[in-house]
Amino acid sequence: MDDKIKNSVKSESCDISQDNIFKTSGRDISGDLNPIKKTAADKPAKYVKIEDSSLIKEGYITVIAGPCAIESREQLEIIAGIVKESGLSFLRAGAYKPRTSPYSFHGLEHQGLEILQEVADKYGLYTTTEVTDAETVEEVAKYVDILQIGTRNMSNFALLKKVGLVANEYKKKVILKRGWASTIKEWLLAAEYITSRGDAELILCERGIRTFEPYTRFTLDLSAVPVIKKLSRLPIIIDPSHAVGQSDLVIPMSRAAIAVGADGLIVEIHNQPEKALCDGQQALDINQTKEMLHQVKGIAALLGKKIR
Ligand code: PEP
Ligand code: MN
Repeated sequence: MDDKIKNSVKSESCDISQDNIFKTSGRDISGDLNPIKKTAADKPAKYVKIEDSSLIKEGYITVIAGPCAIESREQLEIIAGIVKESGLSFLRAGAYKPRTSPYSFHGLEHQGLEILQEVADKYGLYTTTEVTDAETVEEVAKYVDILQIGTRNMSNFALLKKVGLVANEYKKKVILKRGWASTIKEWLLAAEYITSRGDAELILCERGIRTFEPYTRFTLDLSAVPVIKKLSRLPIIIDPSHAVGQSDLVIPMSRAAIAVGADGLIVEIHNQPEKALCDGQQALDINQTKEMLHQVKGIAALLGKKIR
């Protein structure tokens, strides 16, 4: 991590634990205001994990939510709290971030995995994070429930083979995102690399493909949903966040995804999108998260489904 990133992560933690400010003010009022007190380790566990860890369930739409990247323990705790209190059970958060620019924030890596596991255990959430290369698949599998293969790696066949083997061995689920320039056939063949190496629960994820349209980050190919339903037994979820790249467009595309028959959503949310180290422009803030869930619940109800 370069110094700029270190400092921004550090300053965010300082904002949350306000102890230092109280100490230098000469008045000990930290007992009233420090939010960490409410979730202190000696308090009885308040959060319970749902029993059913399967990502896809008949009659339900599974919404996975969380930040693009794990930035600090404090950041992830706040967002995990939002996910849990929204009635959801699956937390997304990147520890290894494959970025288009080598100068961008690339994640907290191993430290991020530890934070993710601890925070998810505390809030009773299942987790998904991206695996970016064959060498770290096993390490990641020890910390999370679902291994995510990102769009940039859909055709990384060495990674697909390794994920297939490791997911089978460690009984992990896998989300395979569609390559942004891949056909549905290429995507389904990539899926075969995984399914032919074991019987891990595999879920496809459409996250937008590259077209000539520059207004949105990518073009969300919602027709992939009925096509996949026709060609494959695999479930399919939609990532509207990376597809549109702008938070105000995420809610309408989430509604559309449910309406077209997707089995779930994976959505980026953040308590302070304007301060996010990665993909802040597309992250839903707390109010937008509530609104998105309210609206997708409405569409799901029309189809006789519930949100989980
Ligand atoms: C992500 O989910 O954080 C991500 C990088 O997505 P994608 O691979 O679709 O770009
Ligand atoms: Mn992202």
